[in-house]
Amino acid sequence: MAELTRKEMLGWLSEKDPQKLEELFREARACAIRHVGPKVYFRGLIEFSNFCSKDCYYCGIRKSNRNLERFSLTEAEILECAKAAYEMDYGSIVLQSGERQDGVYAGFIEDILRKIKKMTSGKLGITLSLGEQAPETYERWFEAGAHRYLLRIETSSPALYQRLHPADHSFETRKRCLEALCRIGYQVGTGVMIGLPFQTHEDLVGDIFFFKDQDIDMIGMGPYIPHADTPLKAQISDYDPSENFRLGLVMVALTRILLKDINIAAATALQTLDVQGREKGVLAGANVIMPNITPTDYRKLYRLYDNKPCLDENARQCKNCLEQRIRAAGAKIGYGEWGDAPHFMRRKSAAV
Ligand code: SAH
Ligand code: SF4
Repeated sequence: MAELTRKEMLGWLSEKDPQKLEELFREARACAIRHVGPKVYFRGLIEFSNFCSKDCYYCGIRKSNRNLERFSLTEAEILECAKAAYEMDYGSIVLQSGERQDGVYAGFIEDILRKIKKMTSGKLGITLSLGEQAPETYERWFEAGAHRYLLRIETSSPALYQRLHPADHSFETRKRCLEALCRIGYQVGTGVMIGLPFQTHEDLVGDIFFFKDQDIDMIGMGPYIPHADTPLKAQISDYDPSENFRLGLVMVALTRILLKDINIAAATALQTLDVQGREKGVLAGANVIMPNITPTDYRKLYRLYDNKPCLDENARQCKNCLEQRIRAAGAKIGYGEWGDAPHFMRRKSAAV
């Protein structure tokens, strides 16, 4: 397929014919196989705390939500999860939490990073998804062993960003954080929510070009799903989960076809809207999956949106279930490998 134009992308975002969409997804999967290989990589996701100092209007763990119990795993519990991931032969883990910018937290994360690296002789890859931080904090964590960072821009439209966040949250700051992460040497991931209230198809096309312009290595994007205790949910009267699911898959496919050699995750939110959501994501061009390895008792407290899946399974059950699903989709799993994005290697060698 020749380079996609904006107009063609808009056409695909409105396409409802299942057969035509199948063709697009097949092309995107073939593009993934050509540019990043046939394997799917697992990153064990540890959602270790739902304390958050931010108040994003769409998110269930925003600081003003008094309707949930707050929790934080201890260092020992996080290390236990990392060990389990290592033993299950996952190449990497992702540490994710609500946002905290204080020094105690920065030190807590740094210690954990060093301990995980030591415990696994440097073999377990570590991605962080800990929100906006000072460049010095990002540097400190990079030195301690983190090598990838996920920070979704949420939407590339500054006007829409403003509608989704209180006045003290800034699109420009978030963008500057992405630039700092790139400069420091992380493999940098970003992404957006798809099917947000007030979002247009033009905004979504703009998101894909934003990923390209920022020279992003990894994408983690998924459908927006309302959470009952949030101000955004209170503003919407119509929500169409199947339309958001369709848009989610089309966005994965178009991003794959335009950006080619990056890693793209099949988001858990896809699975919330369709039991086969993550396999379908792989068949539409994704090559990364983030199985939840958070201890089962805490999973229900880390609820960014309603109907979060896999609340009752343990880490090993999640592995078995996903393994079967990915094999059934005809893909191989890259056990024990970091599965870095070829785009990152290319970006690094171009910078020397
Ligand atoms: N606090 C960190 C990491 C946790 S939030 C951060 O904000 O970067 C991780 C992601 O969850 C966010 O980037 C957002 O895109 C997603 N998210 C939050 N609420 C959501 C919702 N209602 N539907 C879908 N995704 C949501
Ligand atoms: Fe906090 Fe992240 Fe949720 Fe915003 S999206 S409220 S920063 S956890």
